[in-house]
Amino acid sequence: MNNKILANRDLAVLWHPCTQMKDHENLPMIPIKTGRGVWLEDFDGKRYLDAVSSWWVNLFGHANPIINAALKEQLDTLEHVIFAGFTHETGIKLAEKLVDITPAGLNRCFYADNGSAAVEVALKMSFHYWRNGGQTQKTKFITLENSYHGETLGALAVGNVALYKETYAPLLMDVITVPGPDCYFREVGETWAEYSTRRFTLMEQALQQHAGTVCAVIIEPLVQCAGSMRMYDPVYLKLLRQACDKYGVHLIADEIAVGFGRTGTLFACEQASISPDFLCLSKGLTGGYLPLSAVLTTDNIYQAFYADYTQLTAFLHSHSYTGNALACRAALATIGIFQQDNVINKNQRLIAKLAEVAVRFHDHPNVAEVRQTGMILAIELVKNKATREPFAWQERRGLKVYQYALAQGVLLRPLGNVIYFMPPYVITEAELELLAEVAWHGIQYALKG
Ligand code: PMP
Repeated sequence: MNNKILANRDLAVLWHPCTQMKDHENLPMIPIKTGRGVWLEDFDGKRYLDAVSSWWVNLFGHANPIINAALKEQLDTLEHVIFAGFTHETGIKLAEKLVDITPAGLNRCFYADNGSAAVEVALKMSFHYWRNGGQTQKTKFITLENSYHGETLGALAVGNVALYKETYAPLLMDVITVPGPDCYFREVGETWAEYSTRRFTLMEQALQQHAGTVCAVIIEPLVQCAGSMRMYDPVYLKLLRQACDKYGVHLIADEIAVGFGRTGTLFACEQASISPDFLCLSKGLTGGYLPLSAVLTTDNIYQAFYADYTQLTAFLHSHSYTGNALACRAALATIGIFQQDNVINKNQRLIAKLAEVAVRFHDHPNVAEVRQTGMILAIELVKNKATREPFAWQERRGLKVYQYALAQGVLLRPLGNVIYFMPPYVITEAELELLAEVAWHGIQYALKG
C-alpha cells in the first residue's frame, strides 16, 4: 500500500470537511499510517510534525501510552451505554473532575459529542432557563464580530466568519453582532488592555439596549481561533462578566478551542478570574482521541429545570452518544496527565520558547503582526506592512505556505494568510525551532508567487 493508491481510493468515495474537493486535482491527499507523539507518518514513510494538533485537539501526542492504556482497559469493561436512565462510573468520575477543575460555581455537567453540539446545548439551555422563569421575551443572543462557534445551524448563526456563514444566511436565526475587542486593530502605542477596555463600551451599549430580549452573550475567551487567531485582553472578560450580571444576561464561554491550557492557564476564563454561566468544552477534552463535549453550568440554572414532570420544564435535548464511556475515559486520562505532570507549569518553558523562535518574524517586511497568547502563536502575513493591506484572498498565499511546509515535513494549516502554531504540549524546544525555520522559508516561498 502506498500514498497514491490510498489517495485515489479516498477520492473515489470520500467527501472531506472544509475542503474544495477539486483542489485535490493538484494537491495530493495525504493518507496517514501512524502517529507517535507530535509526528505523523504517511504510507510512503514521510513524516510530518503536527503543528496544528490535528485541528487543535491533540494535547499529549498521538498514540500517547497513558491514554492508550486507559482506553484499552475501558474497552474491555464498557464501551457505551444509553445515558438516559443509565449512567456509568467513568462518566460520573469525569463530571466530578470537570466540576473540580473548572471555575468556581460550575457544578453541573451536561455531555454532548462535539463542539458545535455543546454550543447548541448552551444556547438552548440559556433560552429555556429564561422561558422556565416566565421570561419568554428573551429570545436573542449577542455575539462578537469575527467569532466562530461551529457549523451546525445554531452555532453558525452565533458565529461571524463570513466564509462559513454567508452562504447559509437565509437559514440562520437573527443575532445581535457587536464589534469585537480584536487587538489587531488597536492604535499605535495603545496596549491590549486599553484597546479591549475601549471596545467594551460597544458591548455595554448593546447590553443596555437589548438586555430585555437577550438570553446570553457568547464569546471565545481571549483568542478567536477560527477568526484568524485574533486576540484580546482578559480585562474584556472581566467587564463582560460584570455587565452580564448587571443586565441580567447569561455569559456563555466557548472554550472549545482555548480550554485545556492553550492560553497558558488551564481555562482562559481564569486569567480574568471569572466564572461564566455556561462553559463549553471539547477538542482537547479527550486529548484529541475521541469526540466528546461538555457544558458546565451552575446550580441556579440546573434548578430552573428541576420540577415535577408534568410541569414540562425538563431539558429534553439528547444525542445517541451522550456520555460515551470510551470518550469519557480518554478525557479522564488526559486530565490525569495535566495533574500528574504539572503540565500548566511545565508549559511555561514552551511558551517562552515559542516567543523566542517568533522574534525573527517581527521585522519581516510582509508580517503585520506576531501575536501570542500562551501556547498559541500567530503570524499575520500582509502585502504591505505599513498600510497592512492584505494579500488578495484569491492568491491563496497561506496555501503556498502549507504546501511548502508539507514538503519539509511540517503540518502547518494557515487560516487564510495567518500562519499559526498550536502544537501538542509534548513538542520539544528543538521542534519549535524547526517549526519557525520551516514557516520562515514557507513565507519566502509564498511571497515569490
Ligand atoms: N467553538 C470553537 C471556538 C471552535 O474553535 C470550534 C471548532 N473549531 C467549535 C466551536 C466547533 O467544534 P466542532 O468542530 O467539534 O463542532
